Amino acid sequence: MALGFSEIVEEARLSARALLDYGDNLFNPTVRLGVTGLSRAGKTVFITALVHGLSRGGRFPIFEPLATGRIARARLEPQPDDAVPRFAYEDHLRTLIEQRLWPNSTTDISELRLVIDYQRQNGADRTLTLDIIDYPGEWLLDLPLLTKSYEQWSSESLALSRLDPRARLAAEWHSHLATLDAQAHENEQVTLATAKLFTEYLRACRDERFAMSLLPPGRFLMPGNLAGSPALTFAPLEVPVDGLAPDGSLWAMMRRRYEAYKDVVVRPFFRDHFSRLDRQIVLVDALAAFNAGPEALHDLQAALAGILDCFRIGRSTMFSSLFRPRIDRILFAATKADHLHHSSHDRIEAILKRMLNRASTRAEAAGAAVDVVALAAVRATREALVQRGRDKLPSILGRPVKGEIATGETFDGETEVATFPGDLPADLDALFQGDGAFRGLTTATAEKADFRFLRFRPPLLDSDDAGDPALPHIRLDRALQFLIGDKLQ
Ligand code: GDP
Repeated sequence: MALGFSEIVEEARLSARALLDYGDNLFNPTVRLGVTGLSRAGKTVFITALVHGLSRGGRFPIFEPLATGRIARARLEPQPDDAVPRFAYEDHLRTLIEQRLWPNSTTDISELRLVIDYQRQNGADRTLTLDIIDYPGEWLLDLPLLTKSYEQWSSESLALSRLDPRARLAAEWHSHLATLDAQAHENEQVTLATAKLFTEYLRACRDERFAMSLLPPGRFLMPGNLAGSPALTFAPLEVPVDGLAPDGSLWAMMRRRYEAYKDVVVRPFFRDHFSRLDRQIVLVDALAAFNAGPEALHDLQAALAGILDCFRIGRSTMFSSLFRPRIDRILFAATKADHLHHSSHDRIEAILKRMLNRASTRAEAAGAAVDVVALAAVRATREALVQRGRDKLPSILGRPVKGEIATGETFDGETEVATFPGDLPADLDALFQGDGAFRGLTTATAEKADFRFLRFRPPLLDSDDAGDPALPHIRLDRALQFLIGDKLQ
């Protein structure tokens, strides 16, 4: 594809910055680690636990440089990018440890710099700078928009919204759409009302009962600092895919804003942030999708394929090299594994692998190594064998968040309950087809299974660690070993 003039200018700007990054890297090795995942996947909790574990020295037996004592210390330093908000690490940690509440989730991009002093395996002292970039996974799903016209995007979004269970959630928006004439004169109020209904539909899809994942444009649910701007105020219209919008029409107005969205939102994100990442972890709340049923699982699978496509765009001629990522390792992590008994952890990994299967071989072909792990960045539960009738069953003990309701009980945030999360089915096809599907959990006193997972409060910590207790986790060390272990050899 031939490059336009503005793209050539951007290419030049990008090469200059790549050179600068490269120069910095020679004297001061830096890894830019992207942390992403769809909303509520666990990004904020993951980064807080990771930084805390590295800076205070967590219990990380599988993270070799720390386990063998080669990491002397890790400290926070001012971040390199002045225009990116700082990740509010200290606030999040306080919320987690002192109040034993979960911190506020990611809504925008943010960044944090951690500097690690370590000894190489050959004995030499070195420093590695780790820049952690937290951004909503929804933004990655916008990449395909760059090659789609407004008319194509409209027709695809409408077709998707007519499938179940989306169709039910789109009813109000659809009936409003039926009253619109795309050729009519442009009208700000009509556009606002339509965009509002469209956004409400997207939000309903995202609701935990449906847990749909594939919902571009990503900023409609995760607007960051652009909430309310015209570039975020448009919606699909019923228009012919190869049609031409009449000047001054509603159609032309929507089309213009769609193009603005690509110019001011999508391109800058891929150019300024995504293309500069070295390593990436994608967090996935697979349990929420299991809970919501097979449609949610299929939807998540499509979203993961979309995310993986972003990592192999270097090969594609559809996109300019502006967005080519230099990522060479990608870890997909199923989060909140502490909701399941450890005997099920391998099975969640198998399910995630299956979902990635087709797509990940493609990413490997593009030069990135891909791995999968089931983890809990902060482990809120413990395991025990609990008597139930005549049997002793493997169960999960934790304190449900205040106000949680399951199997007819409302919890007070203090009482510990035993839950039996049930086994994930060995037959993965059953999970995807909806028969023999996962049945959520039961509690010790309940007769019937509940379909939802309970949310647990962050754990009570041992205070004998001199005021700075270690956070318990599951396999966070394995994730770290894959993501940066080789950079600390
Ligand atoms: P984000 O939107 O990706 O930043 O998601 P958060 O990190 O804010 O996590 C969303 C919610 O998931 C939290 O409020 C917790 O309820 C839950 N969560 C995240 N990580 C864990 C974990 O490791 N263990 C448990 N039990 N819950 C978690």
